[in-house]
Amino acid sequence: MRYSKMFIPTMKEDPKEAEILSHRLMLRAGFIRKLASGVYTWLPLGLKSLKKVENIIRQEMNRKGAQEIIMPFVQPKELWEESGRWEKYGKELLRIRDRNDRELCLGPTHEEVVTDLVRREVKSYRELPLILYQIQTKFRDEIRPRFGVMRSREFSMKDAYSFDIDEAGAEKSYMDMYDAYMRIFERCGFNFKAVEADTGQIGGSFSHEFMVLADTGEDTIISCGGCGYAANLERAEVGFVDREVPHTKGQLKDVETPGQRTVEEVSEFLGVKPDKLVKTIIYNTDRGTMGVLVKGDREVNEVKLRNMLNLDVIELADEETIEKTTGGPLGFSGPIGLSIPLYADRDVLFMEDFVVGGNVRDVHTVNVNNEDFKVKGYYDLKVAEPGDFCARCGGTYSSTRGIEVGHIFKLGLKYSKAMNCTFLDKGGKEIHAVMGCYGIGVGRTVAAAIEQGHDENGMIMPFGIAPFEICVLPVNSSHAESMELAEAVYKELLYKGMDVIIDDRSERPGVKFKDCDLIGIPIRVTIGERNLKDHMVEIKLRKEKDSQKVRKEEVIERVLNYANEFKRR
Ligand SMILES: [Zn+2]
Repeated sequence: MRYSKMFIPTMKEDPKEAEILSHRLMLRAGFIRKLASGVYTWLPLGLKSLKKVENIIRQEMNRKGAQEIIMPFVQPKELWEESGRWEKYGKELLRIRDRNDRELCLGPTHEEVVTDLVRREVKSYRELPLILYQIQTKFRDEIRPRFGVMRSREFSMKDAYSFDIDEAGAEKSYMDMYDAYMRIFERCGFNFKAVEADTGQIGGSFSHEFMVLADTGEDTIISCGGCGYAANLERAEVGFVDREVPHTKGQLKDVETPGQRTVEEVSEFLGVKPDKLVKTIIYNTDRGTMGVLVKGDREVNEVKLRNMLNLDVIELADEETIEKTTGGPLGFSGPIGLSIPLYADRDVLFMEDFVVGGNVRDVHTVNVNNEDFKVKGYYDLKVAEPGDFCARCGGTYSSTRGIEVGHIFKLGLKYSKAMNCTFLDKGGKEIHAVMGCYGIGVGRTVAAAIEQGHDENGMIMPFGIAPFEICVLPVNSSHAESMELAEAVYKELLYKGMDVIIDDRSERPGVKFKDCDLIGIPIRVTIGERNLKDHMVEIKLRKEKDSQKVRKEEVIERVLNYANEFKRR
C-alpha cells in the first residue's frame, strides 16, 4: 500500500473528546471516527487491525471445530419473552417497532437466536456436540458510552455458543474454548491473564475472563504468586489463618457518639483504628431483610452473599427499613439484639473488644465480642484486597489492573430449559442441551493492544495485529536513488508476503517519522541520502529506542528475520 493513496486522516493535536489513551491515539492515528455517542466508523488503518484480530479468532475457533454462521442483528421480541429477558434486560436492550407495529430489538447478544436455531434443527444426540460462532455487530444502549471503542454502544463481537449432550461434554467444549482463547490472545501479542470470574448460580470454575494487563485497565485482578490463582474482584476468594482469640475481655458498654455515622467519623471520635470496628450492613433481598457484619476497614462482596444464599435481588436497605429492623437510624446499626438473620465475614470471628452501632441514634457499643450477638455463621463475604491470604495455598495476594477482552461462561440448562431446546438421547428420551457461551470484544481487543503498548510518540502495536507490519520510509522523496531503492525494497517485501506500506508522500521527514511512530508500525526501514552514500539503510523497531544500519543488500533478509522473530513470539 502507498501512503499517498491511503485514507489516513491523522491529527496533530489531542482530540478533546478522548478520555483514555487508546481512544486518543485511535483518533489521532486515523483508526476511528465518531458518528454519534458510542457509535464509531472504522477507517482503513483501524479496520486493518480489526480484521487481523478477526482472522486470528476465526482460525483458532475453526481449529477447535467451531463453525461460523451469521445471525440477524434485529431480533423478534417473542424470543426474548421466552427466555424472560425482554423484561429483565433493562434499558441496554434497544427496542424498536416495525411498520406493522411488531416489537423487535437490536441484538446485544445472541443466546435466544442461537437456541431457537438449534432447537429447530438438532433432533438427535448424534448431531452434538455443536459449537457455532459469529463475528458480528452488537448494540447495547449503555447509559454512559465512553473510552471510544472500549465502551461503545455499537461494537463488533465474536460470540460462540456450545451445545452438548451432558455435563462432561459441556466441560470439554468449555476447555476447548479456553485453549482457543489462550492461543488467540497469545497470537495477538498480549501480556494477559485468564482469571476466574463469577459463575452465579452455576457454580464451579466455569467462568473465565481474559484480561489484558494494563495500568489503565478498568478491572482489578487479584492473583497469588504462590499458586497462580487469579480471579476478578467479584470472584476472588479470601483465605484465612485459624487462630486463638485472646480472652482478656473489656466491659461491654454504650457510649455517646453524637452525629458520628461513618467508620471514619466513629473511629476518629473514639480514637480507635477502623479495623476495631464492625460494620452492620442491612440489605433488602428477595428472601427478606438481613444483615451482614464486616470489619470496619473492609467492604461486603455482594456477589459472594448473593451466591451463598442463592438470592435474586439484593440491595442496601432504605432508611425506613433500617429504623424498623434495628430501632436506630442509618449509621448506628449493630448486631446486638437484632432479630433479622445475620451473616458475618470470617474476620469478625477473630476480633475481640470491637465497636458496633448501638441501634439507637448517637450511640455506639464498645468492647463487643462474638458471644454478645447471634449470627447464622461466619463466611468469606468480603471484597479481596492485596495482602489477603490466598484461599488455595495460603500465599499472599497482589493486585493488578486489566482490560477484559474475552469471557467464557458455562450456561448449563438456563436457555435450553427456558426455550425448550431438546434432542433425543441414545435411549430415545427427550433431554435438554447443556450450553456454554464464549465472547470476545473484537474492537475492544484493538483498543486494549494500544493501552498495553504505547509511548509518548504513539502506539506500539503488536506485530500480529498492527495495521502494517513494515513501513518503508524514503526520507527525501525527490532524491531519485532513495526512491528507487525504496520502491525495490517495498516490492520485494510485498512479494515475500509481508504487509508493508511505503511512505511515498512528499512530506517533510519529521512528519513521516512522526506518523509512522504514531501508527505504531513494528518495523521501519528508513532510506536516506546520507546513509546511501555508504550503501547503508536504517532499520528501526518501534519498540526499541535505537536504530541500526545495515548494508542495503542485506535489508530484506534482516527485515524478514525480525518478522519471523515477531511471529514466533
Ligand atoms: Zn495461592
